[in-house]
Amino acid sequence: MYDIIVIGGGPAGLTAAIYGRRAGKSVLIFEKDGFGGQMTHSPKIENYPGYNEISGLELSDKMFEQALALGAEIEIDEVLSVTPGDVKKVKTAGAEYEAKAVIIAAGVKHRTLGVPGEEEFIGNGISFCAVCDGAFYADKHVAVIGGGNSAMQEAIMLSERCSHVTILQDMPYLTGEKTLADIIAGKSNVSVKYNCKIISFSGDTEFKGVAVLCDNMEEFIDCDGCFIAIGLIPNNDAVKDTIELDKYGYIVSDEACTTKESGIYAAGDCRTKKIRQITTATADGASAALAACRYIDGR
Ligand SMILES: Cc1cc2nc3c(=O)[nH]c(=O)nc-3n(C[C@H](O)[C@H](O)[C@H](O)COP(=O)(O)OP(=O)(O)OC[C@H]3O[C@@H](n4cnc5c(N)ncnc54)[C@H](O)[C@@H]3O)c2cc1C
Repeated sequence: MYDIIVIGGGPAGLTAAIYGRRAGKSVLIFEKDGFGGQMTHSPKIENYPGYNEISGLELSDKMFEQALALGAEIEIDEVLSVTPGDVKKVKTAGAEYEAKAVIIAAGVKHRTLGVPGEEEFIGNGISFCAVCDGAFYADKHVAVIGGGNSAMQEAIMLSERCSHVTILQDMPYLTGEKTLADIIAGKSNVSVKYNCKIISFSGDTEFKGVAVLCDNMEEFIDCDGCFIAIGLIPNNDAVKDTIELDKYGYIVSDEACTTKESGIYAAGDCRTKKIRQITTATADGASAALAACRYIDGR
């Protein structure tokens, strides 16, 4: 039996493993894809303290190596379920593992459009985060896809830096709060195109723009970058029947990362919180691991 099983090898999960190992606990991390999580899609990170600029892959490698050097064990496998109890059971397709405490750090995936060109340009012209990548498009033209609160907030933030922001919305109106729509209406460098279906993204080595069908007219939006803001999907399927989720699918937890199940913690983007960034994910990883250690020591 492990002291702590961590589900997810992004910044939250790797930080949890580092803190768990430094407290002398045995730690097993499950990662279903590649260690580092979402940040591996970012060629340049400029807001993680200690580095003026670092690629997401390099930062991932550093966190991963630190966790390994401290003795964290790893399994490349997808966790399919977690059963609460004094001894927690963590199931993958081929095996069942036991732990005294479990930290869920499974992150989120951004809803994508599934159109041609999208996969190629993610991280190189297509972004999901204005806070992270807006600075790379200073004085440039960008498109924002979506018309809800997140899309409008992204567009407002981008309008402070970019020469022009074109919002591409698939409905005949913006669906987010009126106050945000009013701010957008007052911005001379933001325009909105309604009833738009995204056809494809294109470019050669550089991103060139997005082909759309707006009001049944095909056109090409020539732009330097595109921000997709059509929603997030928390990766919480494995715990949807055992841990309380909010109506959007995020794990309900407090600032100490505790859930309603004793000895089960949630860290990073997969939990209810306001800001989803690498710094907040690593902070959660530390809080969750220390709470798990206290729980184990008090058993
Ligand atoms: C393109 C892009 C650029 C970004 N740039 C920045 C930036 O510049 N600065 C910044 O602060 N933030 C940035 N972010 C946001 C930041 O990456 C996230 O906030 C952060 O990665 C969240 O960390 P996490 O560990 O909670 O989750 P994630 O990074 O999502 O990691 C979760 C991990 O869990 C794994 N997993 C999920 N389910 C299971 C399962 N059932 N079994 C096993 N493994 C599982 C996933 O494969 C994933 O590796 C960016 C995000 C993207 C997409």
